[in-house]
Amino acid sequence: MCCLSKYFFILSCISFIPFFIVACILINRHDSKVAGHPGEAKTYELVNRDYFWLKMRSFVKDFVRTCHQCLRNKPKHHAPYGLLKPLPIPDKPWDDITMDFVTGLPKCEGYGAILVIVDQLSKMSLYIPTKKTINAEGLARVFMDHVYSKHGLPKTIVTDRGSPFDSKWRREFNNLLGTKTWFSMAYHLGQMDRQNE
Ligand SMILES: [Zn+2]
Repeated sequence: MCCLSKYFFILSCISFIPFFIVACILINRHDSKVAGHPGEAKTYELVNRDYFWLKMRSFVKDFVRTCHQCLRNKPKHHAPYGLLKPLPIPDKPWDDITMDFVTGLPKCEGYGAILVIVDQLSKMSLYIPTKKTINAEGLARVFMDHVYSKHGLPKTIVTDRGSPFDSKWRREFNNLLGTKTWFSMAYHLGQMDRQNE
């Protein structure tokens, strides 16, 4: 172990290394022409040959993942991303609707979320104050009061949730109506937020 390495080892024991020294080491072992921008494992191995400090692996990981040269020039090793599938154009208003919760809002009169329902043809929107913790029965009641009573039963509801919660509240909705109605739920992850913004 060289003197410098010992110095860093002692510093690591008191959990303090000046950030610029860490940055210099990482630049030297990753960015330099000799190093040639190796990946996380290789960079860690190169640094670990001479140095050690607490949470070194996560330092190396963050440094390599945010390296501009690597981000711009390294090839992607995953399959190409698929294209977004556009939603079909509905035949008449309120046949096809989207439903999404906007949560994390400051509380107002006990409500901290908004249920956003958008008709896909007319783009008419309903913004219903609700709670993040709304249960299946509560959602069925809200759907009955705000959608079914005014616009009838939609053919499809597009949501990005796709959880068992959807089938639960549909069951509750059927209980409220006292009959078996059916509308299909479709899941289009990622397209909901853009529309509901
Ligand atoms: Zn790099």
